This record gives sequence, structure tokens and C-alpha cells, in this order.
Amino acid sequence: MAEARLIDGKRIAETVRADVAAGVARFAARAGRPPGLAVVLVGEDPASQVYVRSKGKQTVEAGMRSIEHKLPATTSQRELLDLVAALNRDDAIDGILVQLPLPPGLDAGAVIEAIDPAKDVDGFHPVNAGRLAIGAPSLVPCTPLGSVMLAKSVSASLAGMEAVVLGRSTIVGKPVAQLLLAEDCTVTIAHSKTRHLADVVRRADLVVAAVGRPEMVRGDWIKPGAVVIDVGINRVAGAEPGKTKLVGDVAFDEASRIAGAITPVPGGVGPMTIACLLRNTLTAAEQRAERR
Ligand code: NDP
Repeated sequence: MAEARLIDGKRIAETVRADVAAGVARFAARAGRPPGLAVVLVGEDPASQVYVRSKGKQTVEAGMRSIEHKLPATTSQRELLDLVAALNRDDAIDGILVQLPLPPGLDAGAVIEAIDPAKDVDGFHPVNAGRLAIGAPSLVPCTPLGSVMLAKSVSASLAGMEAVVLGRSTIVGKPVAQLLLAEDCTVTIAHSKTRHLADVVRRADLVVAAVGRPEMVRGDWIKPGAVVIDVGINRVAGAEPGKTKLVGDVAFDEASRIAGAITPVPGGVGPMTIACLLRNTLTAAEQRAERR
């Protein structure tokens, strides 16, 4: 069988960012100000620091205003909620993102619920999760949105496809399943209690893997010609001693010999996440301006 087509997330994310930048310029000309994205980072988690830096850089490159609030790990729940309330009130802020995970002792659920749903560019607020579930317009979580955009880059219509989503987290698996349902797929959500997992995956025309288990999905789980979207980001030992590398939840070399199209890790879903965050910030800015 021929090698699968590689779905180039980096290139597609560039296209999304270019579209956003054009939309930002139009918004700024109308509104007299650029969209503003506030990112709140509590504590010193190294991975979170890298993400926040990258988000800030790409926000500015898209022509938007980036506001970063870096708070110490000793920040209290009250102080964090007060900051969120101030950002909710600030009319020049269109998007609020509180970087997760929060340090121990802080209640992420309560913080997310405190964000104005109209500014919830991560799409994690229960109002946005609920709107997605009932098929109403909403701010959609970035990684799921990016994953479905990559699937649609292979086939503009996903209607009628048998889709299997591996993972049922509120951040990835569940919203991916809702989006695929909205695309008229027949959706199965598999998880750690699913029986005969390989057989379930073998039915799928479209597989979205979001389990956080390095290379768990083997090549012989894949239906020939299927589209495979690998959300997993797992750091494992590299070939040289002391070196590490990133792998997905799918055994890429095996799967790419069977699949019709597949995302690499890195360079697949990863770059789409921030691109979709920028897109959500522009959407939030436009919707808030319309409501005025
Ligand atoms: P969670 O740990 O929250 O959820 C993992 C899900 O996988 C759970 O539903 C769990 O089932 C299921 N699962 C775990 N082990 C198995 C197994 N052996 N068989 C079947 N199902 C299993 O992870 P997230 O959803 O937050 O993230 C998933 C992956 O996506 C991670 O690798 C993460 O790093 C990556 N990710 C990538 C992003 C990106 O930008 N590309 C952004 C966010 C996440 P159960 O519910 O039964 O426990």
C-alpha cells in the first residue's frame, strides 16, 4: 500500500493565521483598536511558560494586542478571581485565557466559570460547552477545532463517515466528538473502559486519537485508507542516551503505511491549537462588537 498523505499542520496553521491577520486588520479599521487577548499564567510550570511565550508572540504577529499577567504560584483563589473579574470588565480585552494546569490549591473549574463566556477563547466555560452540545454558535476549544479543520483539509465533507474518537476529556475528546457530530459523522467515543478497542478503531474512516499514551494505536488498528488525526503529545526517551523526542498516540511509521492521510507529531495538530486560539479571539472581538 502507498504511503499515507501527510497532513501538514504547520502549513495549514499558517493559512489560518494569515486569514486571522487579514480579519484583524479589518476589525481594527472598523473598531479603532485591535482585538486584545489576555493570558494569565500562575506559577512557574516550564511547559506553560513556553506555551504562553509562543501565544504572546503569535498574537502580536497577527496584529492583535497581547496582555500577559504572570502571577506567583502563591496567588490565592480570590486574587485570581479578582483579576478575571477586572479582565471581564475591560472593554479592550476580547479574549481571556487562564493557562492550565493551575498550581495546587487553585480551583481551575471555578476560575473558568468566572470568565465571561463571550471572552472565553479556550471554549471551556460550561456555557460554551453547552452551546456546542446543542449545536448553537459558541467559542469552540482550540485543539478540537484545529483537529477537525485538519480532517476537513483532506475531505471537505465528512458527512456519513464512521468516526472514532479515542479519549473523552472535556478539553479534547468530548468537543471533538461534538464537532464531528455537527459535521454529520457517525461518532463513537472510546475510552479506557472500551472493550475490543482495536476492533472499534478498525471500523473508522476517521480516527482522532487523544489518549496521552505514546504510540498506543498500532498500524493494524487502522482501516486501509482512513484519515488519522493524532492529538497526542508524549515525550519519550530518544535514540541517543539522555535525549528525548515527541511522539503521538499513534505508531506513525506503521499507521502511515495503512492510512490514507495522517498528521505527524510534531507538526500536525500542535500548530493548529494557537492558530485556532487567534481565530477565536478575532471571533470573540467581532461578536462583542456586533452586540454593542
Ligand atoms: P486526558 O488524560 O484528560 O484524557 C485521556 C483520555 O484517554 C481519557 O478519556 C481516557 O479514558 C482515555 N484513555 C487513557 N488510556 C486509555 C487506553 N489505554 N485506552 C483507551 N482510552 C484511554 O488527556 P487530554 O484529553 O487532555 O489529552 C490527550 C492527549 O492530547 C495528550 O497526549 C495531550 O498531551 C494531548 N494534547 C495535545 C494538545 C495539542 O495542542 N496538540 C492539546 C491538549 C492535549 P478515561 O476517560 O476512561 O480515563
